[in-house]
Amino acid sequence: SARRQRSAWCCYQPGQDEQHFRQLTLIRDLQAAARDSQLWMAYQPKIEASSGKVSQFEALMRWQHPSLGFIPPDEFITLAERSGNIRLLTRWMIDSVCRQLAEWRRAGRIHSVAINLSAEDVIDPQLSEHLLSVLAHYALDVEQLSLEVTESAVMQDPALANRCLSELRQAGLTVAIDDFGTGYSSLAQLKQLPVAALKIDKSFVMSLDTQPDDVVIVRSTIELGHRLGLRVVAEGVETAAIAALLCDFGCDELQGYLIAKPLPGHEVAAWLDQYRA
Ligand code: C2E
Ligand code: CA
Ligand code: CA
Ligand code: CA
Repeated sequence: SARRQRSAWCCYQPGQDEQHFRQLTLIRDLQAAARDSQLWMAYQPKIEASSGKVSQFEALMRWQHPSLGFIPPDEFITLAERSGNIRLLTRWMIDSVCRQLAEWRRAGRIHSVAINLSAEDVIDPQLSEHLLSVLAHYALDVEQLSLEVTESAVMQDPALANRCLSELRQAGLTVAIDDFGTGYSSLAQLKQLPVAALKIDKSFVMSLDTQPDDVVIVRSTIELGHRLGLRVVAEGVETAAIAALLCDFGCDELQGYLIAKPLPGHEVAAWLDQYRA
């Protein structure tokens, strides 16, 4: 409203300058972050609901800033997107993940990893060529990598995103729709995409055992996904009670703190050993 807008610029908001300064600092330091190894990738397992077997790891970016400390990815990814730096970060991320996959393979462990892509990435005409060349460089199997894309990222330019994702699909990479249920994409448009899985957003999962509405949403999403021939993954699984409900509802894969928090790459082998034990 007009009154709200006026108060936004005429009244002093405590912390506003500090916030602005922080953002400028972070944007300035983003490029150096990749160069100076302040960035690293964390890996969070997903398990098959029926067997409990680890199916895949999701790669999540981490930034330890030299003076500001840990910066949440929701904050710096958004800033990177707005400041035109996201393609740079994505390239660094792809290289880092593939290097990790090659290192695991040297240790005798073949894993599969899902990476997160931004709206900018899914309309980047060079992305698929870049991805495939990095995979080839490390002599990795295309099936070892898959993609997570949010509804809103795809919907910024559905036609272009579809072309880009189809190219990757053709090359053998599968695509999951992330944060499913939080966007406002039309199912008609989602149906056009070369998608293999839906990830139910954690906001519907985290209080599944106390919120009847969430039960309706989650069950319908699982049924919808299955009817469309898709795998359905639940993220944000924090308790055994919620995991049991999701298994009951026929959810295919589970991910969340109950199983494991995102781990540094070098801790994955030890985690797997104790998980299997
Ligand atoms: P996302 O892809 O939806 O990832 C799920 C987020 O939920 C992650 O937060 C993860 O650490 C957190 N999570 C996992 N299990 C649980 C749980 O049981 N309970 C709770 N409360 N949270 C859980 P994180 O790592 O802070 O990442 C936030 C978002 O930042 C991601 O959401 C993704 O959109 C974005 N992001 C992270 N890494 C990358 C990246 O490499 N590229 C891009 N484009 N985006 C990234
Ligand atoms: Ca994700
Ligand atoms: Ca998500
Ligand atoms: Ca998210």
